[in-house]
Order: sequence, then C-alpha cells, then structure tokens
Amino acid sequence: MVLPSRDVKRVCVFCNRSGSRTEMTPVTKNPVHREVWYRKLGKTFKLNCEKSRYPYVCLSHFPAKKASSPRAQIYPYKPNYDIEDEYECEENKKSFKNIICNWNNLYPILSKCWNCLRNGKESSARASMRLQGAALHVSYDCVECGSNWKWSSSTFLDREGKQGQKQCEVNLDISVSVLSTGNAFTKIASLFDVLELPFISNRRYNKLIENVLEASVAKCFFSQRSEVLAIIKENSARENGVDLAGDGQFDSR
Ligand SMILES: [Zn+2]
Ligand SMILES: [Zn+2]
Repeated sequence: MVLPSRDVKRVCVFCNRSGSRTEMTPVTKNPVHREVWYRKLGKTFKLNCEKSRYPYVCLSHFPAKKASSPRAQIYPYKPNYDIEDEYECEENKKSFKNIICNWNNLYPILSKCWNCLRNGKESSARASMRLQGAALHVSYDCVECGSNWKWSSSTFLDREGKQGQKQCEVNLDISVSVLSTGNAFTKIASLFDVLELPFISNRRYNKLIENVLEASVAKCFFSQRSEVLAIIKENSARENGVDLAGDGQFDSR
C-alpha cells in the first residue's frame, strides 16, 4: 500500500509565512550559532524563537547552499528591504498597502541581484528602460553573474505578447479613470506632477472632455433612457396607465 505523501506545513519564525516543511529548515540549537542568527535576523525573530519549541525558518532566507547541506553552518541573512505587505507612515501612523515612490529611490533596490546577494556578494545590475506615459518597463542584467530580470509599473505589462500595444492600454486605462473623475485640469495636473508623469495640456484636456467623454456619456444616457421609456410604455398599455413616483427634483436631463 502506498501512503499519500503529506505536505507538512510550518510557519517561519522570521517572516511569519506558512510554507511546506521541505522549504524550511529548523533554527539551530547550538547556542553560539543561535546568537549569530539572532544578530542577523533581529529582535522579533529572537522573541518568536523563544516562544516556539521547534522553530523553523524559510530556506529562502539563506544562501542557496543551505538547501543541499542543511547541517552545514550557513547563516541566514537579513533582506535589505521590508518584506511586510503593510507600510506605516512615520508621521500619522496610518498603515497602507501601496506606496508611491520616486523612481530614483526605487532604482537602487530593483537593481540588486538576488542571486549574488544569496551568495553573499553585493552587485548592481545594468538597466535598460522603456517609458511611455505611465507605462515603465525595465530589464536588468547582472554584471557579476549574468542573471537577468524585469520590472514593470503595471502587472499588465508583464503579460506575454507585443510591447507597444500593452503600453497604450495601460495609458488608456489611466486616461479613462482621469477623465471620468469630474475633476478640473489643475487638480489632475498637480497629481501627475507629484507622480512625475507626463501630462497633456489644459486645452487638450478640455477638448477630450467635450469631444470624447461627454459624447460617450450622452450615448449611454440616451440608449438607457429609451430602454426605460419602452418598458414604461409597454406596462402602461397593458395595465391601462402607470403610477410614477420620484423625488420631485428636476435635476436630470
Ligand atoms: Zn520566512
Ligand atoms: Zn548577480
């Protein structure tokens, strides 16, 4: 009889993520080595270890060699960036999931080579950028080890297929949202200024509202209105009249 293999789960005492036992390693029991682990992974890690009888950590917090030789004294390393999904503002203590970041601040983090870091080396990669409106696409090549990876300002850009088309669609998405907010040009323009994104002129903005947005809204409005009127007429003929009720405001078209 073959027993089904059970996927045993463990929770990492460092990052709190749950993972398969095969992707985890027990925290060292040797007190001297454990001190080094505490120094590397910090106070929260130490507290979690003391609370747990058999603490485990993800293998991904170690150099690659740890997976093949789990008994070897290979120390974990602390990642340079915050692995939590939530961020907290230092000023008002509010927490949020997404951050708006200047590209110049993001660049040094994105250009770090994960493969080199895992092997204890610091390296920076060469980047080639394609920017069209809000669609930014960067490819990196590590000068040290030859690894390459990509980063995009939208997950939409990561999908397989032709490049140009997708960039247009990202910008079209933003255009639709921006035009339909009902905001005046100056408000939107200052937001784009903060985001360091190129934006259209005041004249062009108002032209688009007039020719594209208002025309589309009118088209939807009249087609919905005729549908509703047709239903009312039909009901009225069948039931010999119709009772109408409303809020008494005459603010609809
Ligand atoms: Zn972990
Ligand atoms: Zn590298």
